[in-house]
Amino acid sequence: MKVVVTGGGGFLGSHLCEALLRRGDTVWCLDNFCTGEPQNVAHLRSDPRFRLVRGDVTTPFDIPGRVQAVAHLASPASPPDYHRLPLETLSVGSRGTENALRLARRHGARFVLTSTSEVYGDPETHPQPEDYWGNVNPVGPRSVYDEAKRYAEALAMAYRRSLGVDVGIVRIFNTYGPRMRPYDGRVVSTFLRQALAGEALTVFGDGSQTRSFCYVDDLVRGITAMIDHRGLGGPVNLGNPAEHTVRELADLVLRITGSRSRIETRPLPVDDPTRRRPVIVRAREQLGWIPLIPVEEGLRRTAAWFTARSRPLPEPEPHHAVRDPLTSPPDPVEARTS
Ligand code: NAD
Ligand code: UDP
Repeated sequence: MKVVVTGGGGFLGSHLCEALLRRGDTVWCLDNFCTGEPQNVAHLRSDPRFRLVRGDVTTPFDIPGRVQAVAHLASPASPPDYHRLPLETLSVGSRGTENALRLARRHGARFVLTSTSEVYGDPETHPQPEDYWGNVNPVGPRSVYDEAKRYAEALAMAYRRSLGVDVGIVRIFNTYGPRMRPYDGRVVSTFLRQALAGEALTVFGDGSQTRSFCYVDDLVRGITAMIDHRGLGGPVNLGNPAEHTVRELADLVLRITGSRSRIETRPLPVDDPTRRRPVIVRAREQLGWIPLIPVEEGLRRTAAWFTARSRPLPEPEPHHAVRDPLTSPPDPVEARTS
């Protein structure tokens, strides 16, 4: 298959590109690197079945030749990233998703949207099945991400219902693993970086809020299963139902790294969801998918990667300024193919 992976230079996208190449697919990775890093896919550049296109999916684009699948991952995903890039996040969720859908339609390709557990907001139903509609604050600071993804889901379903595009939606719960940026602000990367550097672990609020953490290899297996399951629309939750409080996660990270760091509390961010755990019956029954890596093992692997990468620990990397999608003219995709 020839698969286009938007956001393929990011954390999840780079693992997906790798998994697709490993099984023999041809991969076109499209990324503007507003939150991803070229280094994530540098080891794939020598593979003749891999093409990297530097470009913004909010600008209409096409890919030469026949495309069989489009995996649409492009979007800032970490809260500090989408707070820093609010308009870009809304734009990639709306215009970017529509451009990716148009590409899939032109090529008669399977389209997989990577949505998020954030569509459930601060859930009143626990754990969260796919038929729960969510509890999202439409004007809060997280809304730029949550509502962009909710719109992206609505748009994808409209393309499926009215235009017959073979759309499938996965809702991803917190996923972690190698290639997370140490300074991306997400809880696993932050705690690991802090623990390995001997700095205090910053627990927001009293740490009683919960998340369910899925290791990246498990998650990528779920996305490829969704790409392959033509006709299946979903949405399908992908996540590890093992639920932990943030405080438990901090203790686990300290134990696994052998760190003597202290734990400090910080104010809880506005609208921080109190609990989150996926119901994965659909994924199990319709995709034959379950997560296999326990969180202790996944954290050990991630800690090993952070340790190998952190000699010395990199400073926050400056991300190049992002084109303002509302004011900048489009640039042609050919000029950006590398
Ligand atoms: P990431 O920030 O590492 O990757 C996103 C990638 O998209 C980056 O490489 C970024 O440069 C690229 N991108 C953003 N806007 C773009 C644009 N306009 N044009 C081209 N490329 C663009 O984040 P991630 O964790 O790898 O997330 C990937 C996808 O999975 C996102 O859509 C995210 O919403 C979804 N998701 C991730 C998680 C998780 O826990 N990691 C959970 C739920 C959903
Ligand atoms: N969190 C924390 N300390 C940090 C970063 C995050 O306590 O340094 C908390 C955050 O408030 C949230 C949880 O960890 O309750 C997960 O945060 P993350 O940003 O990783 O994911 P999301 O909130 O999008 O699920």
